[in-house]
Amino acid sequence: MYLWRVWNRAARLCATDSDNWQNFMYRFFQFKMTSLATLLVAFCFHISTAHADWHQRTDAIMGTRIFVELWHDDAVTAQRLMQQVMDEMHRIDELMSPYKETAQLFVINRDAAQKPVAITPELFDLIQVSNHYSDLSGGAFDITFASLGHQFDYRKQVRPDEAHRKSGQALINYKALQLDAKKHTVFFPHPGMRIDLGGIAKGYAVDKAIAILQQASVTNAIVTAGGDSRLLGDRRGRPWLMGIKHPRADSHAITLPLDNISISTSGDYERYFEEDGVRFHHIIDPKKGDSPRELVSTTILANNSTEADALSTTLFILGVEKGLALANRLPGVSAILIDHAGKVHYSDDLAPPAASAPVR
Ligand code: ADP
Ligand code: MG
Repeated sequence: MYLWRVWNRAARLCATDSDNWQNFMYRFFQFKMTSLATLLVAFCFHISTAHADWHQRTDAIMGTRIFVELWHDDAVTAQRLMQQVMDEMHRIDELMSPYKETAQLFVINRDAAQKPVAITPELFDLIQVSNHYSDLSGGAFDITFASLGHQFDYRKQVRPDEAHRKSGQALINYKALQLDAKKHTVFFPHPGMRIDLGGIAKGYAVDKAIAILQQASVTNAIVTAGGDSRLLGDRRGRPWLMGIKHPRADSHAITLPLDNISISTSGDYERYFEEDGVRFHHIIDPKKGDSPRELVSTTILANNSTEADALSTTLFILGVEKGLALANRLPGVSAILIDHAGKVHYSDDLAPPAASAPVR
């Protein structure tokens, strides 16, 4: 725009009175001053607005898609903050991955049946937070589900035979975990016991990432790890539009305008295989020793992502009646559940229209 105006003015200047020297000098001077003024205005405009912008980055960490988007007036600082978010995700993955041999969680599963394993207070605390959700849910959420869960390989369509399924299920019991809060040790009283934080670690990581952004005075941002997102502020005057994935199609079943909140969705479509029309997926009901099949998708809104993540997995297992009862008694928690027939169920606070259309 600016260049266009300068070019126009220069063209006009050359086309008129070029034989009149005085006139030429006058016009030349006038042209220069106007150009300078235009340049100044453009420069000021550039400084005041051009740098404040949305910045975003997507990486693959923790076996999932990590996305961060934030509003910042300095592109370099924005890049540095997004790098810090990704570094934090890597750090948590290095601590809590069940697959990485150097991760403390891996070491627990390898050694804790032989001797108490000392871990960082951070990991110890998250195990205790997990057990809190086990207490809340009557044992539906239970990180020792992995005693059975590790026998499944959803990609290779492998599941345990009946004998192994039963022996694995018998080892699921978070109350049996021996946790020493002073020494920060974990001990498994039974060989074969395992733990896995897959139902809560991503939400925890999202919270840690948001804390980094808050400390840097970022006021508008989103951090997503797979199905777990936390929103800081709004989209600058507008809400964030958060889609709940259609459980059986590549589209959104429901879109919610949100700000300043965490939203987590668990689904039976993430990791699964089918045998004779029966779906075996990555969530395990400790009481049945099998995947729960009443619901196909559970979404939780909560004040932080650790809670939203743990509860989305929990309500998937509890089902409509018990799940909504739990959401209704927890302050600041809302739930949107989609059952296998496509019917949507809401917690009381979301006050749905009398007849809500099923998802098809
Ligand atoms: P994701 O975002 O990985 O899909 P979800 O929040 O939907 O995670 O939770 C599913 C994960 O929770 C599983 O992959 C598994 O690691 C873990 N999980 C499965 N069953 C249970 C259970 N009964 N209690 C706690 N965690 C579980
Ligand atoms: Mg979860």
